[in-house]
Amino acid sequence: GGAARLYRAGEDAVWVLDSGSVRGATANSSAAWLVQFYSSWCGHCIGYAPTWRALARDVQDWAAAIRVAALDCAEDSNREVCQAYDVHYYPTFRYFRAFTRDFTAGENFKGPDRELQTVRQAMVDFLQNHTDANWPPACPALDPIRPGDVLSLIDRRDGHCVAIMLESGGSYVGREVMLDLIPYENIAVKRVLDADQAFLEKLGVSSLPSCYLIHPNGSHGLIDVAKPLRSFFSSYLKSLPHVRKKSLLLPGKPSAEEKAEAMEWREFDRSKLYTADLESGLHCLLRVELAARSALAGAELRTLTDFITVVAKLFPGRPPVRRLLEMLQEWLASLPLDRIPYNAVLDLVDNKMRISGIFLTNQIRWVGCQGSRPELRGYSCSLWKLFHTLTVQAGARPDALDGTGLEGDPQAVLQAIRRYVRTFFGCKACGEHFEQMAQESLGSVKTSDQAILWLWEKHNLVNSRLAGHPSEDPRFPKAPWPTPDLCPACHEETRGLDSWNEDQVLLFLKRHYGSSNLVHTHAA
Ligand code: FAD
Repeated sequence: GGAARLYRAGEDAVWVLDSGSVRGATANSSAAWLVQFYSSWCGHCIGYAPTWRALARDVQDWAAAIRVAALDCAEDSNREVCQAYDVHYYPTFRYFRAFTRDFTAGENFKGPDRELQTVRQAMVDFLQNHTDANWPPACPALDPIRPGDVLSLIDRRDGHCVAIMLESGGSYVGREVMLDLIPYENIAVKRVLDADQAFLEKLGVSSLPSCYLIHPNGSHGLIDVAKPLRSFFSSYLKSLPHVRKKSLLLPGKPSAEEKAEAMEWREFDRSKLYTADLESGLHCLLRVELAARSALAGAELRTLTDFITVVAKLFPGRPPVRRLLEMLQEWLASLPLDRIPYNAVLDLVDNKMRISGIFLTNQIRWVGCQGSRPELRGYSCSLWKLFHTLTVQAGARPDALDGTGLEGDPQAVLQAIRRYVRTFFGCKACGEHFEQMAQESLGSVKTSDQAILWLWEKHNLVNSRLAGHPSEDPRFPKAPWPTPDLCPACHEETRGLDSWNEDQVLLFLKRHYGSSNLVHTHAA
């Protein structure tokens, strides 16, 4: 007892099972399961936990077909159940087929090693070992089709995309891409193995694996990915215009959908940063979020002053907004009082003196932060973009904070953001999560580059925690960012796992959130 649990339900993508849930979960399930019976005091198990967490995250999209779970046999309350499953040493890995009727202790996983890639491939093989009678309904047919079938697919139009993975016999990429696309609709993925040279030439394929795409309107061609890796293919297919994440909303809520139809949609480029988003975000922050308080005093007021200082000195937007922020900052910095009514801030933001050339829109106009329904994305999206912009600007303009009392501190921007989020961000749970991450690791940030990467990494942690959450916009599924199409150089494959090249990520962030990437289209 007393040992820390290795997996946390809700935090990790691993399904955490216990004596009360393991039978119900694995018996007669519509999905197959891979369960690790472990002990939280076993050294091997502790060492292996990061791999298991990474695997679960890596195959999160496969969950309707096969799930990665863990059960702690060191818990007193789980002892009996571990005996019933005949677990003698830790960790023990067991597969459970879908739709098993009688109790089973599962099938042992046998592999040459327990590397992430080995286990993932074994999961694919295990799925394929199901029969027609117990095939998990969410799992696509994994067997290859014949080259001849491709031609008939090209002739037939049924309103959705068909992607055909062309690969060699031993490859798992096609099946992994098929499983990655399970939560998405309007797309079917097929695979063709070891097609002959003449056939490949006809499709224009020069190397394997490749992906040939048939669009809903019947046009077809090879897709162009920077690297022939699973993550690149999957990410490309997920971002096709007709492809959507299946809605998790229960039927009977069509009104929100109807409203979405009525909303005007602004086309935009995901590789750009829009002034309209940043300015709409500032409007919400200053006129809506702060308005929840009637007065600002003491530590709260200092938090606001520091945050506004950072924004005023670093915001790269248009001059009228920058001047307004400067005016607000100077006023806050010079206040002799420890308490001000919120209305005083509002008067200033609304520029009651009507000084020309000083102005912040009082309209909300989301562009890159548009949601497919009004309650999705918007303000919280714009806040993230503002925060990333601030860390990047602080690196690009090291003198910007001179004279404010914040100069020379590589953590200054992150600390101001952290205190703002904890004190003012309307989403309380968000503030608490963010504070927890800050407590764990913000102290290790020593340079402005590390500050940029810290925020990027934490934002990705939030993304991965929120994947599949009701607040996820089906049109903007949560995924590690930047995706391979936005930054091919940021992605590598290390031992079968999509991994980051952090030097390239840093360069990308500096470009993406740099002032030259800011466009004023749609700005009021
Ligand atoms: P967002 O996550 O808002 O991202 C906005 C844009 O930033 C993306 O479209 C992309 O262009 C870019 N981006 C994405 N990832 C990265 C990255 N790693 N680095 C740099 N840029 C990136 N919601 C909850 O339900 N629970 C929470 O605990 C929670 N915590 C939050 C904490 C903070 C500080 C903030 C600002 C928001 C939090 N939210 C939380 C809201 C949630 O993170 C999203 O903002 C919201 O779900 C809208 O998602 P989105 O699709 O617009 O993308």
